Amino acid sequence: MINTVIFGPPGAGKGTQSDKLIQKYGFIHISTGDLFRWHTKNDTPLGKKVKEIMNSGALVPDDITIAMLKEELDKNPNAKGFLFDGFPRTVPQAEALDRFMKENGTAIHHVIALDVTEQEVRGRIAKRRNTENRVDDEEEKLNKRISEYFGKTIHVLPFYKEQKRLNTVDGIGNIDDIFKSICKVIDA
Ligand code: ADP
Repeated sequence: MINTVIFGPPGAGKGTQSDKLIQKYGFIHISTGDLFRWHTKNDTPLGKKVKEIMNSGALVPDDITIAMLKEELDKNPNAKGFLFDGFPRTVPQAEALDRFMKENGTAIHHVIALDVTEQEVRGRIAKRRNTENRVDDEEEKLNKRISEYFGKTIHVLPFYKEQKRLNTVDGIGNIDDIFKSICKVIDA
């Protein structure tokens, strides 16, 4: 079982690269952003709880996020491997993820951080506004997401770096070249 985390700021290309990784490696994709969007769209009790937080661009509290992730893991007991996208976003989330992996007799094998500048992600999200219609892509909410990333999420990087589990991949350039660099890390 190979478990991978794909990491990066909003607009780094996590979703795009995840689609390609799932195809190639058969990972079960766990995107906490997609899961939260599913819950809000379907107006579930969890969706009702997180809708306003998400739409403002803020992070959902750890206890809620971690519980949702655990539920998703438990739904897939026979997974060949997981690809975590948008999780962990805080150090307590990273610690919980290690704990869950250990309980299942496995671990996080690769953490791949897409290295993209703030200027680049702003440009990409401005473009995607025309096609994707995400409420949280609006300027003010995007500012909040970017500040959540640089204020909170970035601290996950030293957590993995100290444990020598961090692999940084240049996230600017051609999609297929970036994908090749990611595969090199996974196949090493
Ligand atoms: P982004 O494009 O900002 O990477 P995502 O689609 O991953 O966005 O997530 C959208 C929103 O869902 C976040 O802004 C946040 O409100 C919530 N969210 C997703 N994952 C997490 C997480 N691991 N912890 C807290 N909140 C999360």
